[in-house]
Amino acid sequence: MSACTFCRIVAGEIPSTRVYENDRVLAFMDIGQVNPGHVLVAVKRHAENLYALAADDAAAVARASLAVAQAIRAAFAPAGLSVYQANGAAAGQTVFHYHVHLVPRREGDGMELAWPVQNPPRAALETHAAAIRSALAQLQGE
Ligand code: AMP
Ligand code: ZN
Repeated sequence: MSACTFCRIVAGEIPSTRVYENDRVLAFMDIGQVNPGHVLVAVKRHAENLYALAADDAAAVARASLAVAQAIRAAFAPAGLSVYQANGAAAGQTVFHYHVHLVPRREGDGMELAWPVQNPPRAALETHAAAIRSALAQLQGE
């Protein structure tokens, strides 16, 4: 039996309230319900985070998220929708099995993400971008 909560949900070993599934993806109600209609879209095959995700599973989560988001909009008519996904404890991840949150939003609902902008000079953007481009070139060459 897996120690991973979401693997256990996928396997049906612990209860969940499901809204959609296919061969790669399971969408189910987040037990915390930040707002009514809060859904998690998770991969069925265990991947700890985005970095561990297979490209086909990433595509499947994106497609399922689009469909479920449309359904949440039709069912709850929220004022907004936040798509949230955390990788690593420092980013707020608490369940280490890849999943995307779809959170219906309304004004003043108290859901907050601090966004401490630093607005550095353009030269800093160029330096950071060069580092990422270089890493991309290396990774894509592998
Ligand atoms: P994250 O912080 O992005 O890793 O989010 C994990 C989410 O999983 C939280 O919003 C929890 O409420 C939710 N969660 C944890 N255990 C369960 C469970 N057994 N069923 C449904 N949702 C869960
Ligand atoms: Zn898992």
